[in-house]
Amino acid sequence: QPFDSRDGVIWFDGAFVPWSDAKVHVLTHGLHYASGVFEGERAYGGVIFKMREHNQRLIESARLLGFEIPFTVEQIDRACVETLARQGFEDAYVRPIAWRGSEMMGVAAQQNTIHLAIAVWQWPSYFDPAQRLKGIRVDLAEWRRPDPRTAPSRAKATGLYMICTLSKHAAEQKGYADALMLDWRGQVAECTGANVFFVKDGALHTPTPDCFLDGITRRTVIDLARKRGVEVIERAIMPEELAGFEQCFICGTAAEVTPVSEIAQWRFTVGDLTKALMEDYEATVRPAAKAEVAAA
Ligand code: PMP
Repeated sequence: QPFDSRDGVIWFDGAFVPWSDAKVHVLTHGLHYASGVFEGERAYGGVIFKMREHNQRLIESARLLGFEIPFTVEQIDRACVETLARQGFEDAYVRPIAWRGSEMMGVAAQQNTIHLAIAVWQWPSYFDPAQRLKGIRVDLAEWRRPDPRTAPSRAKATGLYMICTLSKHAAEQKGYADALMLDWRGQVAECTGANVFFVKDGALHTPTPDCFLDGITRRTVIDLARKRGVEVIERAIMPEELAGFEQCFICGTAAEVTPVSEIAQWRFTVGDLTKALMEDYEATVRPAAKAEVAAA
């Protein structure tokens, strides 16, 4: 079913509207000039994982684009919780989005109203579940993450996703599930909706997020690995080094922890550390499920 004609409600500027009525005008600044920021959050068993961190990042992304969301983080949290409850899902994806409205048309939009909407839908698996456990196939993208002097590259901003859609489409046309993007220096950066980790000699290696999204899942995985006593090395990684890594996985709110079997000409195994971190992540986002296991 298309996304503009589903059932339920969407939280829109402080009130609930029927799902198919949550529309914006074609002369919206956010549509023409990409003045939008968003979040992707997941609820497990009715609880949104790290909701406060996500909604704080939403406010920070807006600040990086030069606007202030007219709701406090507490109000956004409450709106997310209420939208989830109204939709009636236990496990769901939560998408807040803020953008500049339609009072002025042109590059400048100083007077435009800032809008905020929150939609909740079911999104069980980001990648094909049949492929996912075997490891997904990833291509190397031709498009690169921009220099932080070119764009506010740490914001979760709609405009930056042009690069992701171009890269993902090119990869899918070649039969891959996703694309790994390098940054403007040629260093390994991130996938189109997830961060990347590599395993070598029992240690985790991941690029320093200095020009791409510092994922909340990424930080969760780093904590989980360190709790296991695994060394985590954040550093610049060049694509030539991919030949020397044994395992690879990507992680993000939607993707969770997903093993990677290949990136372009390089091959990886779905090894013990990757599997352990997949389990740790599942147990962290589902504390209730973890408690059940512990009680059994
Ligand atoms: N990079 C990109 C480009 C993303 O879209 C996402 C998903 N939001 C991530 C990384 C991972 O971020 P998070 O773990 O906060 O969802």
